[in-house]
Amino acid sequence: MQIIYAYIKILDNKDEMTQEEVFKKLISHCKEYGFVFPSSEIYDGLSAVYDYGQMGVELKQNIKKYWWDSMILLNENIVGIDSAIFMHPTIWKASGHVDAFNDPLIDNKDSKKRYRADVLIEEQMAKYDEKINKEVEKAAKRFGDSFDEAMFRQTNPRVLENVAKRDELHERFAKAMNDNDLAELRQIIVDYEITCPISGTRNWTDVRQFNLMFSTEMGSTAEGAMKVYLRPETAQGIFVNYLNVQKTGRMRIPFGIAQIGKAFRNEIVARQFIFRMREFEQMEMQFFVRPGEELKWFEQWKETRMKWHKALGLGDHKYRFHDHDKLAHYANAATDIEFEMPFGFKEVEGIHSRTNFDLGSHEKYSGKKLQYFDPELGESYVPYVIETSIGVDRMFLSIMSAAYCEEKLENGESRVVLKLPAALAPVKLAVFPLVKKDGLPDKAREIMNELKFDFKCMYDEKDSIGKRYRRQDAIGTPFCITVDHDTLVDNKVTVRYRDTMLQERINISDIKNLINEQVSFKSLLKKIAKG
Ligand code: ATP
Repeated sequence: MQIIYAYIKILDNKDEMTQEEVFKKLISHCKEYGFVFPSSEIYDGLSAVYDYGQMGVELKQNIKKYWWDSMILLNENIVGIDSAIFMHPTIWKASGHVDAFNDPLIDNKDSKKRYRADVLIEEQMAKYDEKINKEVEKAAKRFGDSFDEAMFRQTNPRVLENVAKRDELHERFAKAMNDNDLAELRQIIVDYEITCPISGTRNWTDVRQFNLMFSTEMGSTAEGAMKVYLRPETAQGIFVNYLNVQKTGRMRIPFGIAQIGKAFRNEIVARQFIFRMREFEQMEMQFFVRPGEELKWFEQWKETRMKWHKALGLGDHKYRFHDHDKLAHYANAATDIEFEMPFGFKEVEGIHSRTNFDLGSHEKYSGKKLQYFDPELGESYVPYVIETSIGVDRMFLSIMSAAYCEEKLENGESRVVLKLPAALAPVKLAVFPLVKKDGLPDKAREIMNELKFDFKCMYDEKDSIGKRYRRQDAIGTPFCITVDHDTLVDNKVTVRYRDTMLQERINISDIKNLINEQVSFKSLLKKIAKG
């Protein structure tokens, strides 16, 4: 490929803003360009509920397609379902959600603000980590090339002091969570002098448990009405259908069932934009395996899911695993995939070895056998389950925060560009006639009419070409093509690439292949396919 000329050079794309500023800008960018709107905005919004706009919905669909295809196309033994949001209420008794789907909450008496006690303590631990990292960064700058980070971490007294404080807190916290010791959680908050970020005081209430499920009534009359829940996870819809799918699909263990759908949680503290919502969407896959083989599959799914994330090219250093200290009532191993959001490393996906807890419990509560007959072993058993569970909205946020970029250009201008992975971009191609006359709009329309079957395209003839580029940069369109007077003669257009801003002239007949190569899900999926 021959690049003909660069329009404007990118001088500087260093991030000079604080992460908090970046996050604020990202939120307003999401609104300004039709990605995410606060729900019910004309009525002053509804806390922790958001609507996706015309661009957001496309990005969201693409995220879901990437996940769905990676499960369903790449694995012969994984199939999908779409179960209802309402389910029999006993399901939530069996799953443990009625009794144990709680978060520990604490109120500050002065600000009247409510917090999750566990999150306050985790934030305190993160402060020690921040201090440690600052020491390391300072020393790295001071010593330059001769810096031995491992040695520094092992010997520097300030680092060691903070590591000891963090470890001590961590141990106390893990024990309190495991023992469900609410008084001890409060005591930790008092002992570590954790203050309310709003009032700045340490005037705390006791810690109480709060159930996160929303409920409503089904049925018309008071006596006939039944209390039902809005599902807090999609997984249970898979468990109660597992035998239906296994039998009708003639599935053999190991096999998986995937589902994408809405989930609802009455979160205590809903902050950080779409990171923690009360209505959100999950992409979950339950993988049914032989008892005793679950930890092998747990490791395998950890690896596969991390590959899925990294294939997007947002930066490998932005991901890490975080193993759980406190295992949920159903799990014998669990880890989170965390992503570096503008407000620190946060969970995007959970991978859990759920044992045979759910199926075993549904057997008990429903009185129906949920066993699988294993023809190779010649015996029946309740399968064990590995779950991969990822939030569409958190994935959306991680992609947007990695993609959002402000750049200074050689000509003194600056631009905001969303460097979205091309396959996920809401619009793949923008088509511009250089001017609104001389038959150029007709030619541009002709090109677009041909390509609209393959890609989401956008036509724009208003304002200067420079302004049109900026509008496309802001929504992350990877390719813009301009039709000029020469096009009418040589059937060539100028293609301009979003990230480099480089331009080249190509034949109209080559556009489809050029774009297809970059935007197809195939190239992404190939990075994670086995064999
Ligand atoms: P957290 O500890 O942040 O509350 P969780 O461990 O309760 O999350 P899971 O029950 O494992 O989350 O849910 C699986 C995934 O669903 C999470 O990794 C996350 O991406 C998504 N998710 C969970 N709760 C929310 C929420 N309130 N808003 C948006 N996404 C969510």
